[in-house]
Amino acid sequence: MLVNFDEADYSYDKLKSDASELSKQYDSILQCVTIGRSHDNRDIILLKLGLGKKYMICCSGVHGRETINPIVLMRIIEYYADLYVNHKETKQNLKHMLLNSSQHLGAEYEKMLLGACIYELLQTFTILFIPLLNPDGYMISLNGFDSINNPELKSKCLALKLPHQDWKANARGVDINRNFPSRLWKPKNPEDYAASENETQALISVFHHYRSKGFLDFHSRGKQIYYYRKEMINRYNERQLLIANRLIKHTNYELVPPDLEIDPGDSGGNTVHYFSEHFNKPALTIETVDEEASFPLDIANREPTFHELRMVILEFGSLII
Ligand SMILES: [Zn+2]
Repeated sequence: MLVNFDEADYSYDKLKSDASELSKQYDSILQCVTIGRSHDNRDIILLKLGLGKKYMICCSGVHGRETINPIVLMRIIEYYADLYVNHKETKQNLKHMLLNSSQHLGAEYEKMLLGACIYELLQTFTILFIPLLNPDGYMISLNGFDSINNPELKSKCLALKLPHQDWKANARGVDINRNFPSRLWKPKNPEDYAASENETQALISVFHHYRSKGFLDFHSRGKQIYYYRKEMINRYNERQLLIANRLIKHTNYELVPPDLEIDPGDSGGNTVHYFSEHFNKPALTIETVDEEASFPLDIANREPTFHELRMVILEFGSLII
């Protein structure tokens, strides 16, 4: 596999070069485009995987310090693309083995079945992956404030006096996941306005351009799924609950109770608020990694998270057709 889980420091540059390599290697089904630029001038990348006419959106890296999901989504892209392009051959090989073997071929059969599901998924959907919406925040969290090239932005970040490993915001110190215009959005400072940030605008433009069937936003805080939207009608939330209950079968994550949708004293303006209110389609926040995990997150979380999310995305696709 090109996306290497053993690489300790998976930088923005490495993610970008992997994205470009993968889109060359799987050019029949994978396209890499830029959907915007961060405030410190990094590309925000969208990987379009599949040939389907329907769309679903998977985003991660909204919060800088949540460094596990971006590489996991990159690996899922590679894994799905590989299963897709090799599916017909895998099927042929299995047929040949079944007719010429006296052994039980359970593992080979399981691989073929999964390949068939991914093949169907990518014939039906084009999955729009945004593995790293906030590349500046991600680099601050990984390598410190020297990662910020613009001196004005750098001194603004330093003035906030936060340890770099705990950095969630973008390079202007704004939490992207409190910057989406929605009913529960509130200014934190008098000069704040919703959708003020480049990263927010990039995701909003993808939402409106593709009119997708559903949206998953991957974060990292305690293996939980946020499905409930108090600003949406019952029928919307019933469907959300149905989907969330199917997704937890693959993860053993917990559902966040409706009254904890927003922490006391916090405001809305999350990615999923915007998506659900504007399009009335399923949108869930999936929190990976244990609640007690400290930052920087241990890279040992990559492998188990990959095994959970590869099934979550497949299942989500089957539920929103
Ligand atoms: Zn988060």
